[in-house]
Formats: sequence, structure tokens, C-alpha cells
Amino acid sequence: LERQLQQSLKMEALGTLAGGIAHDLNNALVPVLGLTECVLENLPAGSRDRADLEVVVGGAVRARDLVRQILAFSRKEAPTRHAVDVGRIVSSTWDLLRRALPPAIRVECSATLGAIVMADPSQLQQVIVNLVTNAAQAIGDCPGAIVISVARIGDEALLSVADTGNGMDEATRARIFEPFFTTKPVGEGTGLGLAVVHGIVMGHGGRIDVRSNSDAGTVFEVALPIAETHASSAEAENPKLCDFI
Ligand code: ADP
Repeated sequence: LERQLQQSLKMEALGTLAGGIAHDLNNALVPVLGLTECVLENLPAGSRDRADLEVVVGGAVRARDLVRQILAFSRKEAPTRHAVDVGRIVSSTWDLLRRALPPAIRVECSATLGAIVMADPSQLQQVIVNLVTNAAQAIGDCPGAIVISVARIGDEALLSVADTGNGMDEATRARIFEPFFTTKPVGEGTGLGLAVVHGIVMGHGGRIDVRSNSDAGTVFEVALPIAETHASSAEAENPKLCDFI
């Protein structure tokens, strides 16, 4: 518990620092992007200047995206909580995600209804997107699979995302929730995805576990407390929401 508390304090300090920098950087980028895009419109297609300026715009867009992620990470708004069904969030997020994943990756989804938690739906969606994006990146261009599942076990909603990707060693595993820790090449990883996931899960009073090895891939398991009013009314048969999407 002490380690978790220290980790949370460290993240909070880093979040505040990074958020301040990101905010100023965001303001600085507004004229860069606005004006370069204006100049671009007036340059003849195929010209050398246009090609150079397109590279400048590409760099500024990447910087803006990074800054946005940092702002999302450092934002301290209290989540707006409703009673939400984790299975439904998974299936609606999946509709958005499937278009973004390489077709070579096989995805299985098995979600049951009845795992109801008090949560901010957009934050839960963010957890799923970040875990599935990492899973897809761990698989890369090799054939592989991602298995997403939701179940209610006792007073907890369990969401798990498993992949057959390249896994991680113990030294990496120990640092994955640290903000800005990444093993991905510059420009591909920000190291914020799991720090955001960790912050959201802690903010909802849940826990997150990871099991990984380089032969079999990785499993992330998120447990969230079942909403009070639904805690005693254990639905006898949890109807299946989706299977093998
Ligand atoms: P990023 O994806 O930008 O690197 P994250 O915080 O999402 O940042 O992840 C941190 C690191 O954790 C990754 O760089 C990677 O080394 C490791 N990681 C996360 N998810 C997985 C996974 N499913 N399989 C293997 N490694 C992973």
C-alpha cells in the first residue's frame, strides 16, 4: 500500500508539472500550425517549399498530439459517475476500435451483462482503448490475437485484455505505470497510456494486475467494485452480451 501511495504521489507531482508545460506548449503551437497551414495553401502543389513545409506541419501535428495526451493525463477533473454496465461499455468501445486495428489481428470478445459499476463512461472507454492499443502494438505485424472479457465475480467487475504479443520482462513490468516510461521508439510511444489507465482505475477505487511473459504474451486485469445498489442483487444468469465479435 505504501508503494502504491508513493507511486500515486509521484504521478500527481509529475502530472502537475507536465500539465503546466503542456498547456504553455499548446498555446505556442497554435500560431505555428495555424500560419504554416495558411502558407501551405498558397504554395503550388509539387513545389520544394511545399514539401518542406508539409514536413514542418507533420512535426507540429505530432507535437500537438503529444501535448494533448499530456493534458489528458494531468487533468484533475473529478469523474462524473453513473451506474454503468462494463459489458456495454466494452461492446460500444469495440465498435470504434475494430476499425483501427490491423485486420491480421484476431479479436475475441466475451462480455456478460450485469457487471454494473459507478463509473465515468468516457474514462472507462479510455482504459479499454489504451489497453487494446498496447495489446495490438505488442503483437505488431505478426499473426496474433487479443481476447477481451468482462465478467462479474462476487462484488467485482473484472475486465481483462489478453494478447499474444511479445510480452515484457520483469524490469519493464516494474515500471509500466510510470508516466513517460516507454520501450517504444521515439515518436511511437509517449509512456502515458498506462499511467492514464492506472490513474483512472485508482480514481474508481479499483485495482489493476498484469501477468506477462515473453512466450505467451500479456494479460491486464482490471477489477472495479460493483455499484452498491447492485451488489446484493447478483443476477443469477449473466446474459451473454457478445461472443466472438
Ligand atoms: P507507450 O505505449 O506509449 O509506450 P504505455 O504507458 O501505454 O506507454 O506503456 C508503457 C510500456 O509498457 C510500453 O512501452 C511497453 O513496454 C509496455 N507494455 C504495455 N502494454 C504492453 C503489452 N500489452 N505487451 C507488452 N508490453 C506492454
